[in-house]
Amino acid sequence: MSQPSSAIDWDRHASHSRACTQCGTGYPRPCACGGEVHREVMTLPGGGYIQLTRCDTCLTPDGR
Ligand SMILES: [Zn+2]
Ligand SMILES: [Zn+2]
Repeated sequence: MSQPSSAIDWDRHASHSRACTQCGTGYPRPCACGGEVHREVMTLPGGGYIQLTRCDTCLTPDGR
């Protein structure tokens, strides 16, 4: 059984810390709510990729 590709394991990220090593260059970034926006890159079948972001406090994606 394969998991849906949308299942991102945000628990790997160091919540409420700017020292997260899972995000990569440029992240975490400060959110307007005062939390940290984390980043995940998902590879797609066919070689593409998409970048997903989520704030560890308000749980909304980075608007940019
Ligand atoms: Zn992170
Ligand atoms: Zn936020």
